[in-house]
Amino acid sequence: MRDPAAALAEREAQGLYRRRRTLTALRDSRVRLDGRPLLAFCSNDYLGLAGDPRIARALQEGADRWGTGAGSAHLVCGHYAPHEALEEALAEFTGRPRALLFSTGYMANLGVIQALVGRGDRLWEDRLNHASLIDGALLARARLRRYPHLDPSPLEADRQAPRVIATDGLFSMDGDLAPLPRLADLARELGAWLLVDDAHGLGVLGANGGGTLEHFGLGVDRVPLLMGTLGKAFGVFGAFVAAPEPLIETLIQHARSYIYTTAPPPALAVATLKALEIVRTEGWRRAHLNALVALFREEAERRGLPLMDSATPIQPLLAGSAARALAWSRALEERGFLVPAIRPPTVPGGRARLRITLSAAQRPEQVLGLVEALAATREDLPEDPCPA
Ligand SMILES: *Cc1c(COP(=O)(O)O)cnc(C)c1O
Repeated sequence: MRDPAAALAEREAQGLYRRRRTLTALRDSRVRLDGRPLLAFCSNDYLGLAGDPRIARALQEGADRWGTGAGSAHLVCGHYAPHEALEEALAEFTGRPRALLFSTGYMANLGVIQALVGRGDRLWEDRLNHASLIDGALLARARLRRYPHLDPSPLEADRQAPRVIATDGLFSMDGDLAPLPRLADLARELGAWLLVDDAHGLGVLGANGGGTLEHFGLGVDRVPLLMGTLGKAFGVFGAFVAAPEPLIETLIQHARSYIYTTAPPPALAVATLKALEIVRTEGWRRAHLNALVALFREEAERRGLPLMDSATPIQPLLAGSAARALAWSRALEERGFLVPAIRPPTVPGGRARLRITLSAAQRPEQVLGLVEALAATREDLPEDPCPA
C-alpha cells in the first residue's frame, strides 16, 4: 500500500477530505457545533420523528421490559416477540405477505443480492444507485451492468436474462425518482426480480407514507422486493425487506448479513412500532413537509439558485467543483446553517453540490432564512475553474 499519510494529504489538497462534526443538543433541526447553535438542513429525519418524545418513551419502556440487547443472532436465540410484531406490522404497512428485519439498510442490500444472485449471474443497476447496492453485487461476484441514471433502455437489448434489477426508489443525492413502472415492465419481460431500495421514499411519499411504490401505485406483483430503512423518516434505526413468503424464507436461509450478526435490540423494535404508528396516523407531517418543499423551490427559483429537478425533500444545489461546494457550505455555516457539501466519489466529478434536506420539524421562516443565506453566500463564491 502507498504511504497512507501522503495519500491523505493528497485527498486534502483535492478538497475531498471527509471530516466528522461532533454535534450536541439535537432537536427539531437545531444543533450545537463547537458551542455555536446551527439550524441543520442535512438530516434524513424527514418527518421530524428522531426527537419525538413518544418514541423515546417507547424505547425506555421497551428497555425496561426487554433489556438492552438481543444477545444473539435471530436464528440462534435473539428473535423476540417485539421483532415478530414489528415484522408483521411492516408487512401490513407495505401491503406485502412478509417482512424481515435487518440491522441496517446497508446489510439488507448486501444480504438480498448475495442471497438471490450467484457468481456470474447478470445484475442491472442504475448508475447512481446507493453504494450498498453496488457492494452487494461485488460481494455476490455478480456480473454487474449499470445503465445511465433513470434510463434503463440498455436492458431492452439485453438477451442474457438478468437475475435481478436493482434501483433506489428516491435517489439520495439527486432527489429524483426511479422510472419504476417501466422497470417493472422490463423485469417482467426479462424474468428478473426487481429490487427497490426505498430508504428515502418510505414514510415520505404517497398519501399514506407507503413511499415510492405507493406514489406509482405498484404492488408486490410488480415489485417483489422492497427494502426500507428505519433510520430516516422513521427516526429510529434499522431496516427491513418486504416480499413474498418464499423470498423471505430464502433470505433467512442464505442472507449472510442476516444470519451472522446480532439481532437489533428488542427495545428498538418496540420504539419502531411506535414510530410506524405515528408515520401512519400523522399525515399532517407529510403535508407540512410538502408545503416546505414547495416554498423552498419557489423562493430558490425566484433568486436564481441552481436547483435540480427534484420534487422531494432532498433539494440539492449544484456547485460544480468540490472546492466550490465546500466553500459554499462553510459560508453557510458562518451564517448559522449546517448544509453538507457532497463531493466525489459520492457524486460524479464536477457535480459536487450542497445537499439540502427538508424536515417536518422545520418552520417556514427557517426555510426562508436558509434561502436568503444561500443567495447571499453564493455571491461571494469563487468562480469555478471547471464548471459542470
Ligand atoms: C441510507 C441508505 C441505505 C443504508 O441504510 P442504513 O440503514 O443507513 O444502513 C441504503 N440505501 C439508501 C438509498 C440509503 O440512502
